[in-house]
Amino acid sequence: MNIMATNQSGWQLAHTYISLPEILYTKLLPTPVARPAMVLFNQTLAVELGLDPKDLEGERGALIFGGNQLPIGAIPIAQAYAGHQFGQFTNLGDGRAILLGEQRAPDGQLYDIQLKGSGPTPYSRRGDGRAALGPMLREYLISEAMHALGIPTTRSLAVVATGEEVWREHPLPGAILTRVSSSHIRVGTFEFAAAHRDPDKLKALADYTIQRHYPEIMVDDQPYLAFLEAVLDRQVSLVSKWILAGFIHGVMNTDNMALSGETIDYGPCAFMDQFDPDTVFSSIDHKGRYAYANQPSMAYWNLTRFAETLVPLLDTSQEKAVEKAREVLERFPEKFQSLWHNGMKQKLGWEGDEPQDKAMIRELQRIMHASKLDYTFTFRALTQTEGINSYFEESEDFKRWQAQWFTRATMNGKTREQIYAGMNAVNPIFIPRNYLVEAALHHFVQEDNRQPFDTLLKAVCNPFDPDAGNADFLRLPPVSREGYQTFCGT
Ligand code: AMP
Ligand code: MG
Repeated sequence: MNIMATNQSGWQLAHTYISLPEILYTKLLPTPVARPAMVLFNQTLAVELGLDPKDLEGERGALIFGGNQLPIGAIPIAQAYAGHQFGQFTNLGDGRAILLGEQRAPDGQLYDIQLKGSGPTPYSRRGDGRAALGPMLREYLISEAMHALGIPTTRSLAVVATGEEVWREHPLPGAILTRVSSSHIRVGTFEFAAAHRDPDKLKALADYTIQRHYPEIMVDDQPYLAFLEAVLDRQVSLVSKWILAGFIHGVMNTDNMALSGETIDYGPCAFMDQFDPDTVFSSIDHKGRYAYANQPSMAYWNLTRFAETLVPLLDTSQEKAVEKAREVLERFPEKFQSLWHNGMKQKLGWEGDEPQDKAMIRELQRIMHASKLDYTFTFRALTQTEGINSYFEESEDFKRWQAQWFTRATMNGKTREQIYAGMNAVNPIFIPRNYLVEAALHHFVQEDNRQPFDTLLKAVCNPFDPDAGNADFLRLPPVSREGYQTFCGT
């Protein structure tokens, strides 16, 4: 064995997923592209994965992350899954993604290395298996921003331009994104396994997922029930973080809910500007199923679909199994409320509990909504952040509330400076605002000018540091009458 070869560029690929029943995946190769060229490479993430950035950021990386050359030790597969899309059950699978393997990182964990846009697979249905440059840059930017905000997410290692066109009503430059995640196991993967009505296959998938993501519950006397609760806990935590950050996922279908508890699938997602619980951006979400404030209910709905798949493993009596699952699911609303409330208190710099807290938070929400206040800037206006403060001067309601807020915040004896510092460490000043993202992508893709994108990327990767971005990013976003729209599957 050539040790140098196995360690080339730092690749340490494992393939635990292919130990699972074969119905869950298909082995296949990425389809090579015409002229792979590296567009973006995430050096920090490469190092975290144990990969050599110098070796991979150039031509060699373009060949590998463009799908033209396999990294040493790769066994590429496309994963099968199903999913409820806007409530309807469908068989899906990686229609345009190929998993190269699981990189064993220096932290000892396995990370899926997946090419997105790498050509057709048996699960492509009518799709071309490809992706366009704009949406892949968008995913890179927003997923890295989410990571910087402390929200669990899949990451982006590279974007490679393919030198080929993809057709989306008109021709667009093609690209491949390398997505990194703790795994790509979804609620939809369990729905796929459960639909085969073979308890052994389902059990194999459950045992694998427990071992990979929840090893601490392997010794539980009811491991599958503990599994349900552990998955629920991570989803509750994730969705509470989205709500606190003003993030709208946009397409919370069960195939887009990862059992690792990471945010996955950056299609039509967007951050809310003016506070409005009914905000929807996705062009296909006509009924507001995945609106901002609906996200906890939708996570609960998805977890119910997940619980249904586990029924055969929970008890030999179906009735008892359903009852056990129901008991776990019913804890969702209370868990969510508690995490959200505590997160809100942190955003407001409040310690301990005071009887008026809940009513005061409700009043803030009412004011933000009625006065159409910018959600992200509201928390920075409280701490009198330069450049933002002035937008709030006209709202008498806000000023009155701010005075009450300050009295509440000082009740535990902290100074103004301490309160502000604590809040500014959790309330971002830079988020990937829709109009900034659109402009950056326009310059990058249409005008071959990447500078606005790079500037925005730097700011959103340092979301709490006022020095990381420029003053333009602190303007109030424009309000368009038609509203901003986002699109899936691009
Ligand atoms: P998404 O809306 O991104 O969650 O995708 C839903 C399903 O459509 C998944 O099975 C994707 O793999 C598949 N899909 C999306 N875009 C394409 C494409 N261009 N070619 C083939 N399959 C696709
Ligand atoms: Mg998806």
